[in-house]
Amino acid sequence: MTRITIAKGDGIGPEIMDATLSVLEAAGAKLAYDEIEIGEKVYLAGNSAGISPEAWDTIRSNKIFLKAPITTPQGGGYKSLNVSTRKFLGLYANIRPCFSLHPYVATKHPQMDLVIIRENEEDLYAGIEHQQTDEVVQCLKLISRPGCEKIIRYAFEYAKMYGRKKVTCFTKDNIMKQTDGLFREVFNEIAAQYPEIENDHWIIDIGAAKLANAPQDFELIVTLNLYGDIISDIAAEIAGSVGLAGSANIGEECAMFEAIHGSAPMIAGQGIANPSGLLLGAVQMLTHIGQTSVAEKIQNAWLKTIEDGVHTFDIYKEGVSTRRVNTQEFTTAVIANLGHLPHKFPAVSYRENARIELPKYARKAPKIKTLQGVDLFVHWSGTDANVLAEALKVLPSETFDMILITNRGIKVYPDGFPETFCTDHWRCRFIAKKDSTASKKGIIDLLSFAENAGIDVVKTENLYAFDGKAAYSLGQGQ
Ligand code: NAD
Repeated sequence: MTRITIAKGDGIGPEIMDATLSVLEAAGAKLAYDEIEIGEKVYLAGNSAGISPEAWDTIRSNKIFLKAPITTPQGGGYKSLNVSTRKFLGLYANIRPCFSLHPYVATKHPQMDLVIIRENEEDLYAGIEHQQTDEVVQCLKLISRPGCEKIIRYAFEYAKMYGRKKVTCFTKDNIMKQTDGLFREVFNEIAAQYPEIENDHWIIDIGAAKLANAPQDFELIVTLNLYGDIISDIAAEIAGSVGLAGSANIGEECAMFEAIHGSAPMIAGQGIANPSGLLLGAVQMLTHIGQTSVAEKIQNAWLKTIEDGVHTFDIYKEGVSTRRVNTQEFTTAVIANLGHLPHKFPAVSYRENARIELPKYARKAPKIKTLQGVDLFVHWSGTDANVLAEALKVLPSETFDMILITNRGIKVYPDGFPETFCTDHWRCRFIAKKDSTASKKGIIDLLSFAENAGIDVVKTENLYAFDGKAAYSLGQGQ
């Protein structure tokens, strides 16, 4: 018996959760439930997180969480419960299987059967944003080696466990050489440890185009948080319907399972919602907690129900469907099919113990880190970079030479183009003079000279080399 936490959520949440629980019970899942309240009511009662501290305790003690969709109220001040649950609980891997149900659910891609594994904690979703000048705001993209190693190893282990022959990595490392570059470097390292699994890499833009046009060419895609967020919705939609897909969020300790769709308030209370997304989320949960035979039984009964043409309104199609059913009738049909295999679709079969356990991250020996210089970011409302350069070059720094100014990453000094449009946000690069060693003290001196000269420094970034290799980007055009 596994004790899990459930939340019925908002909108159609209670209807699809009740449907899912009755299928789980009829299939013989060995589960006990603790129910918590999350979502709209909790937000509107004044809790901006949408969840109470006691509910967190329940989730953390049971470790497994089956969650129906919630409504995030309109207006500012409400934090996304989905994002905070993933991060607080360290749910680093988001897994979305996307497969077509041709010819029973309309799709242009009858052969599609892929899994998207998305990094779930890092990237631009760290939400570290600042306004720095009148004209410029920034969002920090943070990518860590442990974050990359965990998600990429998870992807290869998943491929091994579920018999997928190829793992594809999507990044934009031609532009983001440090962040996406690290993701790809770790991908190459880990791929080499799985010689039996093919691997390849696509730049995200052309990869996404190829995915939308020929999804059958992919088996498993692993990618960073933002790209994964976007392509997993595209993949679910082109497979047939966002309303059919479930998703798993897996961490070292805890895991959360859900439908990928929202609370669909327009159809709430009518008893017509399709419970398939949450049901398939629950199937992923059963494989995760080792109840694989129950997971197979439910998924096969569900596949048979779909191929029997018993369809809720969202996938009902004259000439293809045989019965248009409501949530309750669909659930009854799935329950009646428990123990039966689909005839047209291949039946699913999961390995006995399908839980993926990764080794704990082992921190590498530190590299030799050398300070080489500093980028000063300056708020300046002039337009000619040469004027700013003159003001900076007279700063009496004993340590640094000012070698470069960029505006939004483009080199504007020396030898900038007058055509380049400039904002009020300038990155000014100082590198240690020949025969001199960069130091924090030198940077502090530089900052105080700048302050005394009336130069408005809004932030600094130290420039390091690791094991002798410069670890910062060049200016575009440098
Ligand atoms: P939605 O996914 O709720 O609905 C999009 C469309 O799909 C609607 O036409 C809806 O009727 C239909 N639909 C969705 N699920 C269905 C189902 N199971 N059966 C039949 N039709 C279904 O997206 P939305 O309208 O943009 O968002 C509604 C609310 O849900 C918002 O408050 C949003 O913040 C929230 N939301 C929550 C989650 C979550 O909790 N994981 C995810 C996305 C959106």
